[in-house]
Amino acid sequence: MSAKREMIDVYISGELFQVPEGSTIISSMEYAGFQLKRGVGCREGYCGACATVYREKGDYKLKGGLACQTVVTDGMAVAMIPFVPAEKPTYDLNELEADVSTFTKLFPTVFRCVSCNTCTKACPQEIQVMDYIQAIIRGDIERAANLSFDCIRCGLCALRCPSEIVQYNNAILARRLYAKYLAKKSPELDTRLKELDECKYDKEIEEVKNMPKDKLSEKYYSREIKIS
Ligand code: SF4
Ligand code: SF4
Repeated sequence: MSAKREMIDVYISGELFQVPEGSTIISSMEYAGFQLKRGVGCREGYCGACATVYREKGDYKLKGGLACQTVVTDGMAVAMIPFVPAEKPTYDLNELEADVSTFTKLFPTVFRCVSCNTCTKACPQEIQVMDYIQAIIRGDIERAANLSFDCIRCGLCALRCPSEIVQYNNAILARRLYAKYLAKKSPELDTRLKELDECKYDKEIEEVKNMPKDKLSEKYYSREIKIS
């Protein structure tokens, strides 16, 4: 039999609940009876859908985190945020240059960066957000693409930026430009695309689609990762 867990106080949108110690914000909200239909995705820290703000007992600071990864503490006050409004121009990648002029045109706000580093401190992925923004400003698209590679688009950086910069949309543009214009061509990718055209993996894909969750998880975590 599992040991009984202590209960702690958590304020959810201003209302007091007792939830099991060690719960994440998401699991404590569900324990309290909330049915979460929006602002929740993979629950594993990858999708970036569950950005949440909270305050810990006795601490005036408003903090941000992913609700699926942040463990509640006694007396914590939490509030889900619906979404982060984002400057999001549409563009045709084929018509863009892989240099700073593209950002001047599409994201002029990026040049308002005051180098306060608030975005880096806000990032749950520990990405050097300010550094990738500065790389964009210098026109170093490759560095911006590499530094922002693990961005999950949670929006917490943009939420805290005093200059109203939407870092993650700048970052995805940098990665797109890098992939299309600057990255070395990969012969492996060409081979794989050809294999897909030839339906080489159709049978395997069907097997994966019908696999029980535990087997799928085992297969995923035991996969071979090639780092070149
Ligand atoms: S929070 Fe905004 S202004 Fe501050 S370093 Fe990051 S991008 Fe620049
Ligand atoms: S860079 Fe911004 S949007 Fe991306 S993971 Fe970090 S805080 Fe979230």
